[in-house]
Amino acid sequence: MDVLVSLCKRRGFVFQSSEIYGGTGSCWDYGPLGVELKNNIKRLWWRDFVQRRPDVVGIDASILMHPNVWRASGHVENFTDPMVDCRECKHRFRADHVDAMPWVHYCAATKGNKFTVKPGEPCGHCGERRSLCPQCGKGTLTAPRQFNLMFKTFMGPVEEDAAVTYLRPETAQAMFVNFDNVLQSMRLKLPFGIAQQGRSFRNEITPGNFIFRTREFEQMELEYFVNPRDTVDGRPADEHWHDRWIEDCLAWYKRYGLRAENLQLREHEKDELAHYAKRTVDIEYRFPIGWSELMGIANRTDYDLKQHAKVSGKSLTYFDEERKDHVVPFVVEPAAGVDRSLLAFLSDAYQEEEVRGEKRVVLRLHPELAPVKVAILPLLKKRDEIVRACHAIRDELARSWSVAYDDTAAIGRLYRRQDEVGTPYCVTVDVQTVGDAGEQGDDRVTIRDRDSMEQVRVPRAELVPVFRELLEGGAWKDVAARFTPAAAKDSA
Ligand code: ATP
Repeated sequence: MDVLVSLCKRRGFVFQSSEIYGGTGSCWDYGPLGVELKNNIKRLWWRDFVQRRPDVVGIDASILMHPNVWRASGHVENFTDPMVDCRECKHRFRADHVDAMPWVHYCAATKGNKFTVKPGEPCGHCGERRSLCPQCGKGTLTAPRQFNLMFKTFMGPVEEDAAVTYLRPETAQAMFVNFDNVLQSMRLKLPFGIAQQGRSFRNEITPGNFIFRTREFEQMELEYFVNPRDTVDGRPADEHWHDRWIEDCLAWYKRYGLRAENLQLREHEKDELAHYAKRTVDIEYRFPIGWSELMGIANRTDYDLKQHAKVSGKSLTYFDEERKDHVVPFVVEPAAGVDRSLLAFLSDAYQEEEVRGEKRVVLRLHPELAPVKVAILPLLKKRDEIVRACHAIRDELARSWSVAYDDTAAIGRLYRRQDEVGTPYCVTVDVQTVGDAGEQGDDRVTIRDRDSMEQVRVPRAELVPVFRELLEGGAWKDVAARFTPAAAKDSA
């Protein structure tokens, strides 16, 4: 994790929020490359799950909602985590996280020496198990108290109880309260989905692990409404669609580069199911901190629509033409975190390898995720014609893709910098391109592939179609085979 945090800061992906004031606990700012990567994740998710599907539409709702939304949804009463405090060092913990932490132990069998023991294991010297605060190893912990994770605020200029409202802790509720608006305006037929991306806020007791758990984060959520009276292949429709969404979400993460061996499904036990859920499955990723939730896919039944209908007094039903009856749809909810997805994509893409005795750090990001698609690099920055040609190429490619120009180091160094931020292709302009000593140039440029480090010389006029092919899923080897390979692999 430290390696990723340091790369993110050094190369402009993620900075600590308000760093010059000492930082704000658990808040992070996305830098120039981070915002591109994050936008790419959101754009691909929207494209694949909203635009390309005939059965899903999107919304973008307000973060501040009527306070009754959170009473109806059960968040005011139930959106809590159990919290314990150390009576000695006053540190606060989520009660259900304490056993998963390494713990500090002053061991009586070794004259009180201090050890840090692995989570859940007894001390190797005295055999004792943790009973005190895992952080200081001295204080006892209080009994758990329920702590509500919603951020409270006031709507309007008067800070009184009647004005209390909340920053949304999930984006989902806006899809339920807008169910009828969307149904009527878009004339939809079940099954259909409503999707949304946006910020959510949770006053987490123990945020941390970089952008894995923060108090302000972004979600990509989809509520897929199904008719509970329908069956698909002999199974209740909600159960069928739940399995389909689990498969589709898993396939989506794999398509954009997460390796199968780093992904697993985890079924929620009956006693950990949320109060509204019939079944929940998490997609877990092998983060640098270990296997943890990347996203959850829950069958929320008809709980939310019924609750909002009850509290608002408005009907939230669907007219089933076939049965000539009103029905309250069931809902399957794939809920993903943008920031956690970004962390997973970064950590899966990060590789260190040795190239001719030197360390090469490369982010093997899927080209559609890469913050910069093409870097244009001059071989000699002192030759005006070369620099001019580079800028002209940059301007041409920038009409379609996010590109970069860099002339602040020698070519080997420039390639390494682009490898480190995951740029899939570099274009180099050299003397041969522009000509020398009265001799006409060949107007060909070198394209270098990040993963194989192979290079080919391509006529400048063909750059746009070649990159269209490569960046829309074409294989490098097919492009390379059509053009004469340049001096094999880069010797830098
Ligand atoms: P956890 O068990 O890790 O607290 P959760 O089960 O409460 O997560 P959900 O309510 O299912 O999370 O939210 C859906 C997704 O939103 C999560 O899978 C995660 O990707 C993201 N998410 C939730 N809480 C946070 C947070 N504090 N920081 C960053 N991402 C979050």
